Amino acid sequence: MSFEGFPVEVSPIYEGERIRREDMYVEFGGGKVPHKFELVLAASMEEVEDESVKIVGPDLSELKEGESYPLGILIKVAGAKVEKDLEPVIERRIHLYTNYVEGIMHLNQRYDIWIRIGKKAFKKGLTSLSWWGKALIRLFKAEMPFIEKMEVTFITDPEKVKEWYDKAIEIYNARDARARAIRDEDVDTFYGCVLCQSFAPQHVCVISPNRVSLCGALNWFDARAAANVDPKGPNFPIPKGKCLDPIKGEYEGVNEVVAKRSLGAVKRVYLYSMFEYPHTSCGCFECIAFYIPEVDGIGFVHRGFRGAAVNGLPFSTMAAQTGGGIQTEGFLGVGIEYFRSPKFFQADGGWARVVWMPSELKERVKDAIPPELYDKIATEKDATNVEELKKFLLEKDHPLAAKIREMEAAAAPPPEEKPPEAVPAAGVEITGVPVGAVPAAGGGVRIILQGAKISIKKLIIKRVEKK
Ligand code: SF4
Ligand code: ZN
Repeated sequence: MSFEGFPVEVSPIYEGERIRREDMYVEFGGGKVPHKFELVLAASMEEVEDESVKIVGPDLSELKEGESYPLGILIKVAGAKVEKDLEPVIERRIHLYTNYVEGIMHLNQRYDIWIRIGKKAFKKGLTSLSWWGKALIRLFKAEMPFIEKMEVTFITDPEKVKEWYDKAIEIYNARDARARAIRDEDVDTFYGCVLCQSFAPQHVCVISPNRVSLCGALNWFDARAAANVDPKGPNFPIPKGKCLDPIKGEYEGVNEVVAKRSLGAVKRVYLYSMFEYPHTSCGCFECIAFYIPEVDGIGFVHRGFRGAAVNGLPFSTMAAQTGGGIQTEGFLGVGIEYFRSPKFFQADGGWARVVWMPSELKERVKDAIPPELYDKIATEKDATNVEELKKFLLEKDHPLAAKIREMEAAAAPPPEEKPPEAVPAAGVEITGVPVGAVPAAGGGVRIILQGAKISIKKLIIKRVEKK
């Protein structure tokens, strides 16, 4: 494929390119901008002006360097084989193909996109969004030949972005609602996605009717449509095989395919649990589920949440611990639609185990929360640290309250007995971030320290006997 005449190069080698704040010319979307979206719509052949790129609002050269702007990317596609089911599949590839363009970095999806244009690329001549649009059209037509016509519109006019944003949200919601009618038991085949292996090489998304992809962009119908129309692409069928555990969601076929596609790195996956063998997380998750050992509950934080979650860690810190395609017990990336799944953390206690989530997220998934639990789940307005959370859960008589009381009683040393004393010898050094503790099989707790360096010359732990 030739990109002759382009001011910058276009190639998969630029996929991993990161553009830091000081190197960016401008950014679109991201945390500072409330309205942004990318949307693909299937249209009839007559409705699409093939190969046209329109810009509604100011173009790159008219923007002020260093600033953040709203953006809507609206793509219309047509072709004999183009059907509505393929809209989300095509839409998800905007991320991949945009990242092929030298000097453009694209993160996330749907209503949450974040794009940076590099200063160097701007200086080289990437002064108009039309180059990006042209590159997308060429890449899409080459990689997805069933697209016969494509038209790209970039909307930068803030009013128009807002207008389209509301429409886009409605469309995303309608797509999500479609998969709610079927259950994992009703189908023989799940689907996989390895689009994110370029960033997280061991990561394989397993998409079942009751488990939307963690990026939230692909549900079972979408992944099926993609696997059918583009069998050599990143989506593929997973014959689910024998169900090994209906509660945890372990399937023979899933284990086999994930082992193969992760090149042996991941051998077992539980679809409905965050413990033992959780699904891997790449980096595009809409939300992070995190275990809170002090209350034995699960907290959530979504990408747009500013500030620290109840465990003291902001989304970005937890994202680094959750992502990368590695199975991390007690941390899991999930799509927002998974909150509405009848299998939602089924093996871990489901909603009865949920203790904290930001108020914005709670409002968004309100319809999914069992009404009797709604007031028992804390938000940042009720608790900003674990001590406050404990108090809240006890006061509200959360289903975990009895367990918390038990844990507190067990933790308090009997009055006449002193707790064991840990005597660190000289030369003990522990650096790293304690990211949590999870219940270990056979009792006790397992403490997870990620990125930790521990060097101990001598450590004596002794129990002080009652005199
Ligand atoms: Fe595919 Fe999963 Fe990446 Fe979404 S997060 S693009 S489903 S691999
Ligand atoms: Zn991803």
